[in-house]
Amino acid sequence: MNWYYAVNQQRQGPVTSEELTRLFQTGVINADTLVWREGMKEWQRYSVVADQLAPAPAGVTATPQVKNEPLAPAPSGQSRAPASMGAAFKSDLSPHNLTSAREKRYYVFVVIVSLVVWALFACTIVGIFYAAVIGFFLWLGHGLLAAHLRAETIRVDERQLPELHKTFLEVCQQLGVSEPPRLHVLQADGALNAFAMRHAGRDFVVVYADMLEALGANSSAMKFILGHELGHLKSRHILKQVLLAPGMLFPLLGPAYRRSWETSCDRHGAYAARDFAGALQAMLTLSGGKHCGRTLDAKAFADQYVEERGFFVSLHELTSTYPTLSRRVSELRALQEGQEAAEAPRNPFAYLVAFFMPGGNLGGGVASVLVVVVIIGMLAAMAIPAFQKVRQSSMDKMCHNNRLMLTAALDQYTLENPGRRVWSFVELVGPGKLLNTMPVCPRQGTYSVRNTNAGATVECSSHNFGQPLPTIDLSNMPVPKRTK
Ligand SMILES: [Zn+2]
Ligand SMILES: [Zn+2]
Repeated sequence: MNWYYAVNQQRQGPVTSEELTRLFQTGVINADTLVWREGMKEWQRYSVVADQLAPAPAGVTATPQVKNEPLAPAPSGQSRAPASMGAAFKSDLSPHNLTSAREKRYYVFVVIVSLVVWALFACTIVGIFYAAVIGFFLWLGHGLLAAHLRAETIRVDERQLPELHKTFLEVCQQLGVSEPPRLHVLQADGALNAFAMRHAGRDFVVVYADMLEALGANSSAMKFILGHELGHLKSRHILKQVLLAPGMLFPLLGPAYRRSWETSCDRHGAYAARDFAGALQAMLTLSGGKHCGRTLDAKAFADQYVEERGFFVSLHELTSTYPTLSRRVSELRALQEGQEAAEAPRNPFAYLVAFFMPGGNLGGGVASVLVVVVIIGMLAAMAIPAFQKVRQSSMDKMCHNNRLMLTAALDQYTLENPGRRVWSFVELVGPGKLLNTMPVCPRQGTYSVRNTNAGATVECSSHNFGQPLPTIDLSNMPVPKRTK
């Protein structure tokens, strides 16, 4: 059977079915590559027609597994190992369903909450000010992190760690990423992790050095890790983290949405690896460490998700921005078996408590530096108005004291000069008088005496609000009578 395939919109071929399978295995074409043979109405993606292709010749082996890989030994008595990578990877995953249903569902709610909050922000000057300050510090933090990556970590390319570079390009192709982001390797004192970030139009995927050592540069486990991080970039999670920040800080909803990202990205990773054993290997390495991870039993760990329940586990899950590792393993296993993922019940009381807990970690473990910078920015944004408030109230208090002092002088004067009505402070204030100097209002108000039937009050032209001052009730004065 003669097949044609499209590379850069150019028709290539004809090739045989076996050759087409081999082109897929060697990464020349990917699952999204359009292919066609005589008799087909139109061009189809390779993934659609892969099943009709004849198995590749026996000489072709599957992707090498991770060293010491205990999983998936070739079944004995079978003359041929799983013939082709494409055929061995039986799964419902396709480029169109990598984003989890949960992510799509929560996305709607997070967008609604964020739009409402942004609209409220936009209505107030203070809100715009906060948003600008927080935005500035986020940008600064990201810039510094990007600078750290560019200057302090290993940039992977043809010259540097070429094997990892090649694996990365394969994963990009498999996920249909036409412009591969930068890949960096970061030494983090034994930590096992990877993350994706974006700054100033540059996308980064970062793999920790120990992760690379643990998984190897060319394993399907490494492809899973790279695919997971590319999933974050493809799904524009970094941008959403900023634009949808209000919704993501919302209790319960925010963390749930963040967790759904990881589920989606694990699906991206599994699809990129085209091998569930490798995906599970990566997860077990993350969970158990680089040595222990190889010997762990995926099913036992997955069972832990269903067996370990209760209030605190539920609360931990509800407030966490990552699904628990045992849950992720459980979901990957369900994908592998083509089953529904196990749903373990949560304690209802945990929802109530979680509602009063903050909406998870905005930084998402990207970098503690970033989180600290953001917190400082937010504190500054909150501290400025708080400082102004303190200053204002201390000025109010000072004026209040001034008026108390003047009232006391007024009081004294009335006592000493019974029956005289005071209209100004001229007789009270000055050298040798009751008050040596006129107190000054910190808000430049002028003080005046207001006489009412009930008595005399001191008023400030800038402080007519605030606590009323005690009126001098002349009727209660020991000195009797006043004229008029
Ligand atoms: Zn992730
Ligand atoms: Zn005043």
